[in-house]
Amino acid sequence: MVTVSAQRFQSARVTQFKESVIREMTRLAIQFGAVNLAQGFPDFPAPVELKAAAQRAIADDLNQYSITWGAKPFRDVITEYYRRFYNLSLDPERELTVCCGSTEGMIATLLALLNSGDEVVLFEPFYENYWPDSQLSGAVCRYVPLRAPDWTFDPDQLRGAFNKKTRAVILNTPNNPTGRVFSRAELEIIAELCEQFDCLLITDEIYEHITFDGKRHVPPITLPGMRERCVLVNSLSKTFSVTGWRVGWVIAPPELTNSIRKVHDFLTVGAATPLQAAGVTALRLPDEYFRTLAENYAGKRDRLMAVLEAAGFRCHKPGGAYYVMCDISNLGFGSDVDCCDHLVKEIGIAAVPGSSFFSDEADGANLVRFCFAKRTETLDLAGERLARLRA
Ligand code: GLN
Repeated sequence: MVTVSAQRFQSARVTQFKESVIREMTRLAIQFGAVNLAQGFPDFPAPVELKAAAQRAIADDLNQYSITWGAKPFRDVITEYYRRFYNLSLDPERELTVCCGSTEGMIATLLALLNSGDEVVLFEPFYENYWPDSQLSGAVCRYVPLRAPDWTFDPDQLRGAFNKKTRAVILNTPNNPTGRVFSRAELEIIAELCEQFDCLLITDEIYEHITFDGKRHVPPITLPGMRERCVLVNSLSKTFSVTGWRVGWVIAPPELTNSIRKVHDFLTVGAATPLQAAGVTALRLPDEYFRTLAENYAGKRDRLMAVLEAAGFRCHKPGGAYYVMCDISNLGFGSDVDCCDHLVKEIGIAAVPGSSFFSDEADGANLVRFCFAKRTETLDLAGERLARLRA
């Protein structure tokens, strides 16, 4: 066998990449038969109406390419959905790009809108894709800490992260991994800086409907003056429990959409046609669906927090999304990685080490993230296993 040298053939842009820790934990969960509370996806079925709609679409021969930036009926219904929930009016012909999940939406956006040496502001801890996405587009990241227990930022620190080279801020609200739902006042601070420094606000809003305790998601694009500066990334994945469908979209002003569509087209051509058809059914589900989704997740959050606290973890209560960040400093592990290693191999629980959400691993060494998008039985089984931790 010929051994091919990675040094000779690996591109320079990839050399600094680590494997995704989140996806790695899913593989370890399978290997060790652990309950997977690591990667964020539900272990319960998607809504029956959606499954039926996807099956129907395939049977009806919707199996060829759609228009590269999205099937017309799906773009129309996305438009309807933003009017319904946020009273936002969009032009589906000029402001929307349907992508293969928000993951593609984000990277297509950055590749389309950033140049080498541009700077991007990230709130830290951050969802692990944003750093490699920035790298691939040649941008340099500036980090602004979100401070526990509330995971708020210091406006002066945020201001300090901006300069002449700043081209964009990436904001995920409701936030993965902290569960922070950014308030209107916080968003206004961010928006004002974006205006002052003439840069974009790229928002990842995939947990928009998963909010608790009366908190409501505010899309920054709805703030005065932000319509022209916001690029909104979203998907069907979390709201409709179909993370494997890979159907997302990007909303951006027409000029920017033009660029994003080109990158998207050459990267993937388009998202799966029958699943876009099922997306029409999804986005038209009654308000009741969205209310119940949030209520069910609130119950799951409380259940998982009770289980974790009984096992000795100190939990930060999330206001949204479906993760609990825990402080493990009182549990006697050497690090977050040691803790997750022990949990997956000895206790039978997979979780994500906090360090995977930080630029400096040391900053996450006391943190571990658990996902509660799971059936009651799964959360209870996690509870039984975690009881062994105390023993
Ligand atoms: N957002 C999910 C998480 O943080 C997973 C996303 C993914 O793996 N593509 O776990």
